[in-house]
Amino acid sequence: MISNPVSLKAYNTFGIDASCDRLIEINSEEELSEILPIPHKEVRVLGGGSNILLTGDLERKVLHNQIKGIKVLKENDSYVLVEVGGGHDWHQFVMWAVSHGYGGIENLSLIPGTVGAAPIQNIGAYGVEQSEFFVSLTMYDLTTGKDHILLEEDCRFGYRDSIFKGPLKGKCFITSVRYKLTKKHELRMDYGAIKKKLVEKMIAYPTIRDVSEMVIEIRKSKLPDPRELGNSGSFFKNPIVTTSKFNRLIAEFPEMPHYSIDDETVKIPAGWLIDQLGWKGKRIGDVGTYEKQALVLVNHGKATGGELWDFAKMIIQEVEDHYGIVLIPEVNVW
Ligand SMILES: Cc1cc2nc3c(=O)[nH]c(=O)nc-3n(C[C@H](O)[C@H](O)[C@H](O)COP(=O)(O)OP(=O)(O)OC[C@H]3O[C@@H](n4cnc5c(N)ncnc54)[C@H](O)[C@@H]3O)c2cc1C
Repeated sequence: MISNPVSLKAYNTFGIDASCDRLIEINSEEELSEILPIPHKEVRVLGGGSNILLTGDLERKVLHNQIKGIKVLKENDSYVLVEVGGGHDWHQFVMWAVSHGYGGIENLSLIPGTVGAAPIQNIGAYGVEQSEFFVSLTMYDLTTGKDHILLEEDCRFGYRDSIFKGPLKGKCFITSVRYKLTKKHELRMDYGAIKKKLVEKMIAYPTIRDVSEMVIEIRKSKLPDPRELGNSGSFFKNPIVTTSKFNRLIAEFPEMPHYSIDDETVKIPAGWLIDQLGWKGKRIGDVGTYEKQALVLVNHGKATGGELWDFAKMIIQEVEDHYGIVLIPEVNVW
């Protein structure tokens, strides 16, 4: 345990220098049980800190999830059921699956953070979401100290959404997650530039490893490395609007990119909306948007969380004024 008060600068990928009252490393369910119950308003749960924005010092304890390990629970010719510690690094888990030839999550290579945080916003990339391979998780209610198992249907997964961003927000600690990975896998290569890359490299019969490597290569070329430039990936969710609202928008902005979700809703890339308003690469002091992607807010060095949040609010306001769309942060603002 590190106490009184401790800087969280090294614990968040924005590199914001804010502190908490106490940082408590949790290495096992037993260690967690010893310190619970705690009223949830006195505590925050932290994984890799790659999806939080610290807007000031936290007058709370922070529980840092360090519960690691991968266990195979069940296996047959078609699939393998694995249990992964909530504090295990997500990308290391993907690399473990790739090295064993287990399919499903290869498109989610190189997403920073921990396995326990993956269900929180139902991480997704390149046409795949973790919910497709999710089976169940174990979580502890912070206030009662009791453990519960939640199945896929309990978690209410949606686009960058789950029950953990709704009624259970800030109220639980996820200690382990179970995934069902495939042995007879159908690769998903239609999204983004994966197929194009495979053609360029003349890979005619791609493997799970090939797809993972293409995703890693594409991601490295598009996103800033938090070790070099503080960021939290996409700052905003892509807005989803009704078809009737979209029809009005497209009449006014015929070049607006979009993806139909179903008959009633359409998704619009937030990055495009922000870029159109001239925000790509913009900088105010040490806060800015990434030069290659307006959706990624960056800390050029000494930005505070408050400055980043003010900058984000300016973007939200301008997008609303121009398009009538209210952007919602994907990042958890603390
Ligand atoms: C460069 C970059 C690229 C990214 N790309 C993607 C992407 O392609 N797709 C995507 O979906 N996301 C992406 N992200 C966002 C981020 O990687 C994910 O949201 C990730 O799941 C966050 O994990 P974490 O452990 O860092 O969570 P943290 O930032 O530590 O926490 C995030 C939230 O989850 C809660 N939480 C964390 N662990 C637990 C737990 N064990 N129990 C209960 N609550 C918990 C926290 O309290 C907090 O509210 C990216 C981020 C960066 C920096």
